[in-house]
Amino acid sequence: MPIITDYLVIGAGVVGLATALHLKSMDPRSRVVVVEREAAPGAGDTGKSMAAFRTIFTSRVSSMLARSTIALYQDVEKRGFSLGMTWAGYLFVLDNELKKHVDRGLRLLGGEGENWEWVEPSLLEERLGIRTQVSHLEEADVLGASDVVGGVLVRKAGFLDADRVVEYYFRESRRAGVEFVFEAEVERLLLEPRRERLGLEGEPFPWQEPRVSGALLSTGDSVRVKKKTIVAAGVWANKILNPIGVDTFSRPKKRQVFRISAKGRLAEILERGDLTGSGSPPLIILPKKVLVRPAVRERSFWVQLSDDLGRPYTLEEPPSAEEHYYNLAIHPVLSLYMPPFSEAAPSGSWAGHYDVSFDGNPIVYEPYDSDLIVAGGTSGSGIMKADGIGRVAAALALGLDEVELYTGEKFRVSWLGLEGRLCEKELLIL
Ligand SMILES: Cc1cc2nc3c(=O)[nH]c(=O)nc-3n(C[C@H](O)[C@H](O)[C@H](O)COP(=O)(O)OP(=O)(O)OC[C@H]3O[C@@H](n4cnc5c(N)ncnc54)[C@H](O)[C@@H]3O)c2cc1C
Repeated sequence: MPIITDYLVIGAGVVGLATALHLKSMDPRSRVVVVEREAAPGAGDTGKSMAAFRTIFTSRVSSMLARSTIALYQDVEKRGFSLGMTWAGYLFVLDNELKKHVDRGLRLLGGEGENWEWVEPSLLEERLGIRTQVSHLEEADVLGASDVVGGVLVRKAGFLDADRVVEYYFRESRRAGVEFVFEAEVERLLLEPRRERLGLEGEPFPWQEPRVSGALLSTGDSVRVKKKTIVAAGVWANKILNPIGVDTFSRPKKRQVFRISAKGRLAEILERGDLTGSGSPPLIILPKKVLVRPAVRERSFWVQLSDDLGRPYTLEEPPSAEEHYYNLAIHPVLSLYMPPFSEAAPSGSWAGHYDVSFDGNPIVYEPYDSDLIVAGGTSGSGIMKADGIGRVAAALALGLDEVELYTGEKFRVSWLGLEGRLCEKELLIL
């Protein structure tokens, strides 16, 4: 017996979960079914995330999505459901080269004060063990690294627990009546003619105005969809979309995280490095885009490199972290600017993918009047924008032009689409 539903959401990552919840609340009498190939929600890239959040983006759409999603998360916490939000801030450690890059972004954020503040090099040294004078060192010459001129601290930022965000959406959507089918992979999407089926080979033909009518699952079951199918399958979406001539217009790029235990001088950074009163040092973005994310509770740091040119667009399955990448691409920069890391080796690692869109902003659109919605292109910031993306995807599925974000701001659904897109290249992709 096929599963018959009004809406089918493919993928129980943070985007699929938020979309399902908003669909159910905007169209309460409808049946919403989420299918996920893994045994639990959040087991794709959502579970691989560094789960950092910030309210600052250079593009308007990304700022609105992040601001509203973070406002929701704050209220969820106020209502007593902890998401592990730690308002430790983002600290951009600037040499002259990075300063130029960040300056462009900061200009869009307005002046120093409410959104960001300047941190003197002496404070970076004292509290975070950052070496600011490096240019006299031989390694600096090899790395093309220069002295640190200061830091920019963004206070309205920090990190949270992605698993708790998943738990929140999973709990709320089940409470609202969303149904889940786990360990069921969509093998292919089904097309049917809107007009009468004639029983001819090769149907549906374009003149029969085909629509996506459901999906075939690895379990042998099929799903029949009366209203819309929403593909929220992250970096795997193109595997089911491309065979029917649809694309996400985003591509997977591998991202790796290395865990370093905080012992000795690194432990001191955890203890002294709090700049916001949150109990944790900030997320540190070093020159050459090495990211250091403190994990106070597990007494470690998670280190990542934000690499662009040279990192191919490929879907590696399963993605695994490369030790030599840490040793050769990350460690030289890390130990130059933060000498306490020089002796430390990773005690663990993992890897996932960013779903990188062409302008760094999410993509939500309906191709060819197909009853199919594509929701992805989260470009490494899907946790912090999920609620906004979910609302836009749900609104598009309901045929609305505009949706209200959690903050009350009005958001045009077409801003994330291909026609009517507010196309501003996001500059602060980390
Ligand atoms: C190393 C790393 C660090 C990151 N750091 C941050 C950060 O600090 N802050 C932030 O906001 N974001 C961060 N991100 C990005 C964030 O994790 C993603 O933007 C977000 O998780 C994307 O959610 P999603 O629901 O689109 O995809 P996913 O979580 O990948 O969900 C897609 C789901 O679809 C399922 N699926 C796929 N194909 C099928 C199929 N055929 N049938 C059924 N199910 C299917 C998958 O199993 C998966 O569960 C990071 C990502 C990585 C990899």
